[in-house]
Amino acid sequence: HQPIPADIDIARHASMLPIGEIAARLGIPDSALEPHGRVKAKISLDLYRGLRAGPQGKLVLVTAITPTPAGEGKTTTTIGLTDALARLGKKAMLCIREPSLGPCFGIKGGAAGGGYAQVVPMEDINLHFTGDFHAIGVAHNLLSAVIDNHLASGNALDIDPARVVWRRVVDMNDRALRQIVVGLGGSANGAPRETGYDITVASEVMAVFCLSESIHELKERLGRMIVAYTRDRRPVLASQLKVHGAMAALLKDAIKPNLVQTLENNPALVHGGPFANIAHGCNSLIATRMALGLADYVVTEAGFGADLGAEKFLDIMCRQSGLVPDAVVLVATVRALKMHGGVAKADLGRPDAEAVRRGLPNLLKHLENIQAWGLPVVVAVNHFTADTPEETAAIEEACAALGVKAVRADHWARGGEGALDLAGALLELTGGPRPALAFTYPGELPLWEKVRTVARRIYGASDIKGDAKVLKAFADLEAAGFGHLPVCLAKTQYSFSTDPQLRGRPEGFTLAVRDVRVSAGAGFVVVLTGDIMTMPGLPKVPAAELIDIDEEGNITGLS
Ligand code: ADP
Ligand code: MG
Repeated sequence: HQPIPADIDIARHASMLPIGEIAARLGIPDSALEPHGRVKAKISLDLYRGLRAGPQGKLVLVTAITPTPAGEGKTTTTIGLTDALARLGKKAMLCIREPSLGPCFGIKGGAAGGGYAQVVPMEDINLHFTGDFHAIGVAHNLLSAVIDNHLASGNALDIDPARVVWRRVVDMNDRALRQIVVGLGGSANGAPRETGYDITVASEVMAVFCLSESIHELKERLGRMIVAYTRDRRPVLASQLKVHGAMAALLKDAIKPNLVQTLENNPALVHGGPFANIAHGCNSLIATRMALGLADYVVTEAGFGADLGAEKFLDIMCRQSGLVPDAVVLVATVRALKMHGGVAKADLGRPDAEAVRRGLPNLLKHLENIQAWGLPVVVAVNHFTADTPEETAAIEEACAALGVKAVRADHWARGGEGALDLAGALLELTGGPRPALAFTYPGELPLWEKVRTVARRIYGASDIKGDAKVLKAFADLEAAGFGHLPVCLAKTQYSFSTDPQLRGRPEGFTLAVRDVRVSAGAGFVVVLTGDIMTMPGLPKVPAAELIDIDEEGNITGLS
């Protein structure tokens, strides 16, 4: 066995086609292509409008079992599957989120796939890319500056300085900015007040951006965002500060999807990247819809495990847009199942089919959920070098009992060729008519009942609870007219429950709801359970210490 080179080394030796060639194969006219150098381009929204009327491809959602902190391979599977579909002669493309710089320099590393399943140019995609996140951050901070300016200039809206909910953002893991005081240094600088920073991907502007289908809709949604409350507790909307138009102007190029390619020269749209806890965690709706107009098969990824990512993709994004996936790929790994089977992190490398079997209830619960949504599903067993045939067989047997195919996928080590079986299984699965998607809850259910339904049906909780203050906050949101919105639960991704240590398929637990707030522009109610970090910190030794560049501009240390 040849060892697999580092991600960046594989990426650097990719033979990329000029982006115009990738676009031409998709039938994208030159006039709609806005190249950013040789191998990246934005695609104009004019083309998007035309595509909506034409034939639409099949949509494949890639999600995963409850992951380990390393990630189980949704992005790599999304890429490998697309390359495999192309090898089978299908017109396929993929849509994924843009990486955030925070995790890139922190623990997790980049997010452009890995091994022989990557999108390239990987160093560009991971570092700044086409500047979309910069634009989103600036649009967000424009509103922050205008709020403080309004406070300092007579405060005609009677904003309560202690109830400004709009914070500032930066695309960096920077724990020192979580809580800050602004307005120090005398009255010329405004009045001191406490506020703080979130990472850019946690901005509501990001969520709005990813759910809007036109500049018009973008402006409307930005205007609807709640930025503060008045002294008599009325919400103050961004539109009242009159800069939602300027914010949209700052986003005019960012909103155009970014076209790049896989290592095997297949098209990829990498666009938008909302957090998967306090937001819905999928790439932009515009990118997915554009891809559906361009290709016969579109593979896309939803962040975190299926209890979070797929649930939000379906109950928020599909509900709002009318999209319906034709099939779901559930990524599982032997190592994550062993962890669910009680094996300690240090021992995950040791063969243990029995531990895999003990961990299977986690996978089976995710499968039950996907089947309850009415969607056809195939399990991709993302193959790691240390996995044994006995371990993989244990997964295949358990899935077969539910009538679900589990397929070993080896794209990380072998590229699209390694995912041919998975692609074949997927084609079988998508041969029929579009499935009827059954949402987890109806839109008219009260917010508290929506949360209870998600907790019981999807997480397997016996009930939910909240103190009087939380219950009042839910009642206030109903009274304010937000009761019809879907709920976006922020929960740890490491367990079906709120306790990250509770692996497998926990039962009989009660989900404690800590807080609730509305993202009125994005169009969902965010329900907080446990401690949710909207500004991550760096680890003691950040990944940034490994990243370097030489005189020729070659980057090393990115993974
Ligand atoms: P997710 O999207 O679910 O977070 P990724 O596809 O980004 O997961 O993979 C997480 C990390 O694990 C990446 O660094 C990737 O290169 C690595 N990885 C994925 N699959 C494999 C595999 N089969 N063998 C070794 N490393 C893998
Ligand atoms: Mg991913």
